[in-house]
Amino acid sequence: MNQDLSRRALLKWGMASAAVATLGQTHAKSANYALPALDYAPAALEPHIDAETMTIHHTKHHAAYITKLNEALTANPSLQAPTLDALMEKIATVTDPAVQSTLRNNGGGHWNHAFFWAIMAPAAQTGKPSDALLAAINESFGSMDKMKTAFAEAALKRFGSGWAWLIVQNGKLKITSTPNQDNPLMKGLVAAPDLGTPILGIDVWEHAYYLNYQNRRADYITAWWNVVNWNAVNKHFSA
Ligand code: MN
Repeated sequence: MNQDLSRRALLKWGMASAAVATLGQTHAKSANYALPALDYAPAALEPHIDAETMTIHHTKHHAAYITKLNEALTANPSLQAPTLDALMEKIATVTDPAVQSTLRNNGGGHWNHAFFWAIMAPAAQTGKPSDALLAAINESFGSMDKMKTAFAEAALKRFGSGWAWLIVQNGKLKITSTPNQDNPLMKGLVAAPDLGTPILGIDVWEHAYYLNYQNRRADYITAWWNVVNWNAVNKHFSA
């Protein structure tokens, strides 16, 4: 078996690399989520997102969430979950408030960023929304333009740091927003109207855009649509 390929495939499915390690690594730690590689070069999203922002965001911010997540799971091995998605649903049940907060911020940070990198692509490789996705967007929002306007409004209105999401909730598309590193999978932590399965999301923490756009979050959001990987969004929607 090609171990590099199998490792990448498993990471794509959000499994802890502790599980991957059993495939062949010899020094597995009890909790060892790994930073997923980008599917494109850090400069590949320019001019919409600059290479320096991508590099710092990926190798510093995202990596730091993973380090802290791994520390918390190593100290509390009973909190491990079979998948990263399952971990999101488990955080509300953690009784120690400090541990819960660490998992919420850093487990959420890992889930959100792993999702974010994969729903972006170089502008020439983004594909198009599928007919099924377009039909659902039309049903929920009236048109693609109206969906984009509502999504941008949610992203702009998010005070401070957080995310805006396009989710599937009870079989329908909906736009939500969550603060900090919360996400729509966090049952018991995030309000029920904001829960669902994300198919698209934008990071509106200043670290996602400040180097290039400074305080112009609206300009960042407008530019970001150019690098939305519709091929990936279509797959999330049909899953
Ligand atoms: Mn971020």
